[in-house]
Amino acid sequence: MNVRFDGKRALVTGAGKGIGREIVKKLVECGAETIALSRTQADLDSLKQECPSLIPIRCDLADTDSIPNALKDCGPIDLLVNNAGIAVADIVLDAKPADFDKSMTINVKAPIVISQIIAEGMIKRKTGGSIVNVSSKASLRGMQNYLLYAASKAALDSVTRTMSLELGPHNIRVNSVNPTVAKTDMSKAVWDNPANTKMLTSVIPLGRLAEISEVVSVILFLLSDFSSMVTGSCVPIDGGCIAN
Ligand code: NDP
Repeated sequence: MNVRFDGKRALVTGAGKGIGREIVKKLVECGAETIALSRTQADLDSLKQECPSLIPIRCDLADTDSIPNALKDCGPIDLLVNNAGIAVADIVLDAKPADFDKSMTINVKAPIVISQIIAEGMIKRKTGGSIVNVSSKASLRGMQNYLLYAASKAALDSVTRTMSLELGPHNIRVNSVNPTVAKTDMSKAVWDNPANTKMLTSVIPLGRLAEISEVVSVILFLLSDFSSMVTGSCVPIDGGCIAN
C-alpha cells in the first residue's frame, strides 16, 4: 500500500511532540502540504528545521476562543488530525472540577471547534475530506486512575460518530483511532514503571505496547482513499486488548 497525499493539504494539532510530530513528518514524506499546530514554539521551530516545507501555527487549544483567529490564514484543508490531548491522572474520589474542564476543553471542545471551521471549508469547496480524531483505548475499557481522560475520550468517540452522520453527505469521513499506550512524553509515567507495563501488557494479546509508527500508519490509512468507505469508526490500535 503506497499512500500518497500529493496535492492535498493537511492540518495536524499537537504536532510538537510524540504521535503528532510523527504524523506531520509522515504526511510531509507522503507529499501533503502540512500545517503543524502546537503550543510550544521551540517544538515548532525544531520540527520546521526537520521539515522545511511545513507551515507552523502556535496556538494554545485551551483557549478555544483563539482558534478561529489562529486558523484564519491556514487556507483550504483536505485532511485534519485532531491529535492534541492531555491526560490528567486522577482517581474517582479525588477528581477536580478544574481538571474536568481542562480535559474536556482540550480533548473534546477544541476538536469540535477546529472540525467546524475545517468542515465548513470542505463543504463550501465541495471537495470532501477526511478527519481523524486521536482518541484512546481508555474510551472503550475501564481505566483506573484516569477518570477524566477516559471520559473525555469517550466523548470524543461520540463526537466522531455524530460528525460522521452529519458530514457524510458532504463526502467528509470522520473516524477515531483508539491506541493503547505508546511510548511518548504523555504516557511516560505509565511505561516508565515496569510494574505498570507488566500489568498493561498482561491484558494485551500481542503482549506489548504500541510503537508510535503503528499508531501513525493507521491514521494515515484513515486519511487516505484506501479507507474511502470507512467513516464513523473508532479503530482500536491495541494489540487485541479490547477483545480480551
Ligand atoms: P504528547 O504529550 O507526547 O504530545 C502532545 C502534543 O500535543 C504536544 O506537542 C503538546 O504540546 C500538544 N498539546 C497538548 N495540549 C495542547 C494545547 N492545549 N494546545 C496545543 N497543543 C497542545 O502526547 P502523545 O503524542 O502521547 O498523545 C497524542 C494524542 O494521542 C493525545 O490525544 C493522546 O490522548 C492520544 N493517545 C496517546 C497515547 C499514548 O500512549 N501516548 C495512547 C492513546 C491515546 P506541549 O508539549 O507544548 O503542551
